[in-house]
Amino acid sequence: MHTEALAAFRDNYIWLIRPEADDPRTLVVDPGDAAPVIEALERGGLELRGILVTHHHSDHVGGIADLLRWQHDRQPGQPVPVWGPAAEQIPGRTQALQDGDAFTPQGWTQHVSVLAVPGHTLGHIAYVVTSAGQNAPPALFCGDTLFSAGCGRLFEGSPAQMHDSLNKLSQLPENTTVNCAHEYTLSNLQFARAADPMNARVVAHQARCLALRAEGKPTLPSSIGLEKQINPFLRTTQPGVVQALEQHRGHKPKDAVQALAWLREWKNDFKG
Ligand code: ZN
Ligand code: FE
Repeated sequence: MHTEALAAFRDNYIWLIRPEADDPRTLVVDPGDAAPVIEALERGGLELRGILVTHHHSDHVGGIADLLRWQHDRQPGQPVPVWGPAAEQIPGRTQALQDGDAFTPQGWTQHVSVLAVPGHTLGHIAYVVTSAGQNAPPALFCGDTLFSAGCGRLFEGSPAQMHDSLNKLSQLPENTTVNCAHEYTLSNLQFARAADPMNARVVAHQARCLALRAEGKPTLPSSIGLEKQINPFLRTTQPGVVQALEQHRGHKPKDAVQALAWLREWKNDFKG
Protein backbone atom coordinates (compact mmCIF):
# COMPACT_ATOMS: atom_id res chain seq x y z
CA MET A 1 0.00 0.00 0.00
CA HIS A 2 1.23 3.50 -0.82
CA THR A 3 0.06 6.58 1.08
CA GLU A 4 0.75 10.27 0.55
CA ALA A 5 -0.26 13.33 2.60
CA LEU A 6 -1.41 16.40 0.68
CA ALA A 7 -1.25 19.64 2.66
CA ALA A 8 -4.47 21.69 2.58
CA PHE A 9 -5.64 24.88 4.26
CA ARG A 10 -3.42 25.85 7.21
CA ASP A 11 -2.65 22.46 8.72
CA ASN A 12 -4.93 19.79 7.19
CA TYR A 13 -3.72 16.64 5.49
CA ILE A 14 -5.72 14.96 2.75
CA TRP A 15 -4.44 11.40 2.41
CA LEU A 16 -4.16 9.57 -0.92
CA ILE A 17 -4.08 5.76 -0.82
CA ARG A 18 -3.01 3.48 -3.64
CA PRO A 19 -2.60 -0.33 -3.68
CA GLU A 20 1.04 0.06 -4.83
CA ALA A 21 3.27 3.03 -5.69
CA ASP A 22 2.97 2.29 -9.43
CA ASP A 23 -0.79 1.72 -9.36
CA PRO A 24 -2.82 4.77 -10.45
CA ARG A 25 -6.04 3.75 -8.64
CA THR A 26 -6.44 6.22 -5.82
CA LEU A 27 -8.66 6.61 -2.79
CA VAL A 28 -8.86 10.05 -1.17
CA VAL A 29 -9.50 10.54 2.55
CA ASP A 30 -11.33 13.65 3.82
CA PRO A 31 -10.96 16.00 0.84
CA GLY A 32 -11.78 19.33 2.50
CA ASP A 33 -10.49 21.07 -0.62
CA ALA A 34 -10.57 19.69 -4.18
CA ALA A 35 -7.74 21.82 -5.62
CA PRO A 36 -4.72 20.04 -4.08
CA VAL A 37 -6.29 16.65 -4.81
CA ILE A 38 -6.96 17.42 -8.48
CA GLU A 39 -3.45 18.85 -8.78
CA ALA A 40 -1.92 15.67 -7.33
CA LEU A 41 -4.10 13.35 -9.44
CA GLU A 42 -3.25 15.22 -12.65
CA ARG A 43 0.45 15.51 -11.84
CA GLY A 44 0.72 11.78 -11.04
CA GLY A 45 -1.58 10.52 -13.83
CA LEU A 46 -3.78 9.01 -11.10
CA GLU A 47 -7.38 7.82 -11.20
CA LEU A 48 -9.90 8.74 -8.54
CA ARG A 49 -11.57 5.50 -7.41
CA GLY A 50 -13.24 6.50 -4.16
CA ILE A 51 -13.58 9.00 -1.35
CA LEU A 52 -13.43 8.03 2.33
CA VAL A 53 -14.89 10.48 4.84
CA THR A 54 -14.42 10.37 8.63
CA HIS A 55 -16.83 13.12 9.76
CA HIS A 56 -18.96 16.00 8.59
CA HIS A 57 -16.75 19.07 9.27
CA SER A 58 -16.23 21.29 6.25
CA ASP A 59 -12.43 20.98 6.31
CA HIS A 60 -13.01 17.25 5.62
CA VAL A 61 -15.94 17.31 3.17
CA GLY A 62 -15.70 20.74 1.45
CA GLY A 63 -14.00 19.40 -1.71
CA ILE A 64 -16.25 16.40 -2.39
CA ALA A 65 -18.69 18.11 -4.76
CA ASP A 66 -15.90 19.65 -6.87
CA LEU A 67 -14.03 16.34 -7.02
CA LEU A 68 -17.15 14.48 -8.17
CA ARG A 69 -17.77 17.16 -10.81
CA TRP A 70 -14.17 16.93 -12.02
CA GLN A 71 -14.40 13.15 -12.21
CA HIS A 72 -17.74 13.32 -14.03
CA ASP A 73 -16.29 15.68 -16.66
CA ARG A 74 -13.36 13.33 -17.29
CA GLN A 75 -15.05 9.92 -17.09
CA PRO A 76 -18.85 10.25 -16.98
CA GLY A 77 -19.24 6.45 -16.98
CA GLN A 78 -17.09 5.89 -13.92
CA PRO A 79 -18.91 7.14 -10.82
CA VAL A 80 -16.89 7.44 -7.63
CA PRO A 81 -18.16 5.85 -4.42
CA VAL A 82 -18.23 8.15 -1.39
CA TRP A 83 -17.97 6.22 1.87
CA GLY A 84 -18.96 8.08 5.01
CA PRO A 85 -20.53 7.73 8.45
CA ALA A 86 -24.22 6.77 8.37
CA ALA A 87 -24.95 8.97 11.39
CA GLU A 88 -23.78 12.24 9.79
CA GLN A 89 -24.72 14.44 6.84
CA ILE A 90 -22.02 13.85 4.21
CA PRO A 91 -22.34 15.54 0.80
CA GLY A 92 -22.42 13.01 -2.06
CA ARG A 93 -22.27 10.00 0.23
CA THR A 94 -23.15 6.78 -1.61
CA GLN A 95 -22.15 4.24 1.06
CA ALA A 96 -23.32 4.79 4.65
CA LEU A 97 -21.05 3.09 7.17
CA GLN A 98 -21.33 1.99 10.77
CA ASP A 99 -19.07 0.40 13.35
CA GLY A 100 -17.96 -3.07 12.24
CA ASP A 101 -18.63 -2.56 8.54
CA ALA A 102 -15.94 -3.76 6.14
CA PHE A 103 -15.44 -3.55 2.39
CA THR A 104 -12.92 -4.00 -0.38
CA PRO A 105 -12.84 -1.19 -2.95
CA GLN A 106 -13.54 -2.56 -6.41
CA GLY A 107 -10.42 -4.08 -7.95
CA TRP A 108 -8.37 -3.73 -4.76
CA THR A 109 -6.83 -6.44 -2.63
CA GLN A 110 -6.77 -4.18 0.45
CA HIS A 111 -9.53 -4.55 2.95
CA VAL A 112 -11.09 -1.57 4.73
CA SER A 113 -12.76 -1.91 8.12
CA VAL A 114 -14.74 0.73 9.96
CA LEU A 115 -14.59 1.71 13.62
CA ALA A 116 -17.06 4.08 15.27
CA VAL A 117 -14.99 6.64 17.22
CA PRO A 118 -17.42 9.23 18.63
CA GLY A 119 -16.11 12.20 20.60
CA HIS A 120 -14.95 14.96 18.24
CA THR A 121 -18.29 14.49 16.46
CA LEU A 122 -20.99 11.96 17.39
CA GLY A 123 -20.91 9.99 14.15
CA HIS A 124 -17.14 10.10 13.59
CA ILE A 125 -15.69 6.91 12.06
CA ALA A 126 -12.13 5.71 11.42
CA TYR A 127 -10.86 3.41 8.68
CA VAL A 128 -8.29 0.63 9.02
CA VAL A 129 -6.85 -0.47 5.69
CA THR A 130 -5.13 -3.85 5.67
CA SER A 131 -3.30 -5.62 2.86
CA ALA A 132 -4.27 -9.27 2.58
CA GLY A 133 -1.42 -11.76 2.65
CA GLN A 134 1.30 -9.11 2.79
CA ASN A 135 3.54 -7.97 5.59
CA ALA A 136 2.58 -4.33 5.12
CA PRO A 137 1.41 -2.74 8.38
CA PRO A 138 -2.26 -1.79 8.67
CA ALA A 139 -2.99 1.90 8.08
CA LEU A 140 -5.38 3.85 10.31
CA PHE A 141 -7.15 6.93 8.95
CA CYS A 142 -8.60 8.54 12.05
CA GLY A 143 -9.66 12.03 10.96
CA ASP A 144 -9.84 14.34 13.99
CA THR A 145 -10.08 11.64 16.68
CA LEU A 146 -6.45 10.72 17.36
CA PHE A 147 -3.66 13.17 16.54
CA SER A 148 0.01 12.54 17.08
CA ALA A 149 0.55 13.32 20.78
CA GLY A 150 -3.03 14.62 21.05
CA CYS A 151 -6.71 14.09 20.34
CA GLY A 152 -9.55 16.03 18.75
CA ARG A 153 -11.61 18.62 20.58
CA LEU A 154 -14.89 17.41 22.05
CA PHE A 155 -17.32 19.36 19.87
CA GLU A 156 -20.21 16.90 20.09
CA GLY A 157 -19.26 13.94 22.25
CA SER A 158 -18.40 13.39 25.91
CA PRO A 159 -15.04 12.64 27.54
CA ALA A 160 -16.28 9.08 28.16
CA GLN A 161 -16.97 8.61 24.44
CA MET A 162 -13.57 9.98 23.45
CA HIS A 163 -11.91 7.80 26.08
CA ASP A 164 -13.59 4.68 24.68
CA SER A 165 -12.76 5.68 21.09
CA LEU A 166 -9.08 6.26 21.89
CA ASN A 167 -9.01 3.02 23.83
CA LYS A 168 -10.35 1.18 20.78
CA LEU A 169 -7.67 2.72 18.55
CA SER A 170 -4.89 1.93 21.04
CA GLN A 171 -5.79 -1.77 20.76
CA LEU A 172 -4.85 -1.89 17.07
CA PRO A 173 -1.52 -3.61 16.31
CA GLU A 174 1.45 -1.48 17.41
CA ASN A 175 2.82 -1.22 13.86
CA THR A 176 -0.46 0.28 12.56
CA THR A 177 0.38 3.60 10.92
CA VAL A 178 -1.57 6.59 12.23
CA ASN A 179 -2.63 8.92 9.43
CA CYS A 180 -4.37 11.88 11.06
CA ALA A 181 -6.03 14.82 9.37
CA HIS A 182 -4.02 17.68 10.91
CA GLU A 183 -0.41 18.65 11.48
CA TYR A 184 -0.80 19.49 15.17
CA THR A 185 2.15 17.44 16.41
CA LEU A 186 4.49 20.20 17.63
CA SER A 187 1.78 22.01 19.57
CA ASN A 188 0.62 18.68 21.03
CA LEU A 189 4.16 17.73 22.05
CA GLN A 190 4.57 21.11 23.74
CA PHE A 191 1.50 20.24 25.80
CA ALA A 192 2.75 16.68 26.40
CA ARG A 193 5.92 18.17 27.94
CA ALA A 194 3.69 19.72 30.61
CA ALA A 195 1.15 16.91 30.98
CA ASP A 196 3.68 14.03 31.02
CA PRO A 197 6.80 15.83 32.28
CA MET A 198 8.86 12.77 33.20
CA ASN A 199 8.48 11.18 29.76
CA ALA A 200 11.84 11.23 27.96
CA ARG A 201 10.25 9.79 24.79
CA VAL A 202 8.23 12.98 24.41
CA VAL A 203 11.41 15.07 24.52
CA ALA A 204 13.15 12.84 21.98
CA HIS A 205 10.17 12.81 19.64
CA GLN A 206 9.82 16.59 19.89
CA ALA A 207 13.42 16.99 18.68
CA ARG A 208 12.70 14.66 15.74
CA CYS A 209 9.53 16.52 14.79
CA LEU A 210 11.14 19.96 15.06
CA ALA A 211 13.75 18.77 12.55
CA LEU A 212 11.08 17.38 10.20
CA ARG A 213 9.04 20.60 10.30
CA ALA A 214 12.17 22.70 9.73
CA GLU A 215 12.55 20.77 6.46
CA GLY A 216 8.87 21.32 5.64
CA LYS A 217 8.10 17.60 6.06
CA PRO A 218 5.02 16.09 7.75
CA THR A 219 5.52 14.52 11.18
CA LEU A 220 3.09 11.82 10.06
CA PRO A 221 2.36 9.01 9.80
CA SER A 222 2.88 8.08 13.41
CA SER A 223 2.17 4.57 14.72
CA ILE A 224 -0.01 3.13 17.46
CA GLY A 225 3.12 1.89 19.26
CA LEU A 226 4.65 5.39 19.27
CA GLU A 227 1.41 7.07 20.33
CA LYS A 228 1.13 4.75 23.33
CA GLN A 229 4.54 6.06 24.42
CA ILE A 230 4.11 9.80 23.78
CA ASN A 231 0.39 10.69 23.66
CA PRO A 232 -0.90 11.88 27.07
CA PHE A 233 -4.48 11.17 25.98
CA LEU A 234 -3.57 7.47 25.66
CA ARG A 235 -1.66 7.60 28.95
CA THR A 236 -4.37 8.80 31.34
CA THR A 237 -3.51 6.17 33.96
CA GLN A 238 0.28 6.59 33.84
CA PRO A 239 1.64 7.88 37.17
CA GLY A 240 3.47 10.81 35.53
CA VAL A 241 0.28 12.07 33.85
CA VAL A 242 -1.87 11.53 36.96
CA GLN A 243 0.69 13.45 39.04
CA ALA A 244 0.81 16.35 36.57
CA LEU A 245 -3.01 16.51 36.60
CA GLU A 246 -3.00 16.48 40.39
CA GLN A 247 -0.62 19.43 40.43
CA HIS A 248 -2.69 21.25 37.82
CA ARG A 249 -6.09 20.75 39.47
CA GLY A 250 -5.21 20.39 43.16
CA HIS A 251 -6.36 16.79 43.47
CA LYS A 252 -6.16 13.49 41.61
CA PRO A 253 -8.62 12.61 38.84
CA LYS A 254 -11.07 9.96 40.05
CA ASP A 255 -10.65 7.77 36.96
CA ALA A 256 -9.28 7.64 33.43
CA VAL A 257 -12.33 9.39 31.95
CA GLN A 258 -11.96 12.33 34.30
CA ALA A 259 -8.23 12.41 33.55
CA LEU A 260 -9.03 12.64 29.85
CA ALA A 261 -11.61 15.39 30.45
CA TRP A 262 -9.07 17.37 32.48
CA LEU A 263 -6.33 16.88 29.90
CA ARG A 264 -8.66 18.10 27.16
CA GLU A 265 -9.66 21.20 29.18
CA TRP A 266 -6.05 21.91 30.08
CA LYS A 267 -4.98 21.60 26.45
CA ASN A 268 -7.81 23.90 25.32
CA ASP A 269 -6.31 26.79 27.34
CA PHE A 270 -2.70 25.75 27.05
CA LYS A 271 -0.26 28.35 25.76
CA GLY A 272 3.07 26.60 25.18
ZN1 ZN B 1 -13.17 18.04 12.58
FE1 FE C 1 -10.48 18.87 10.97
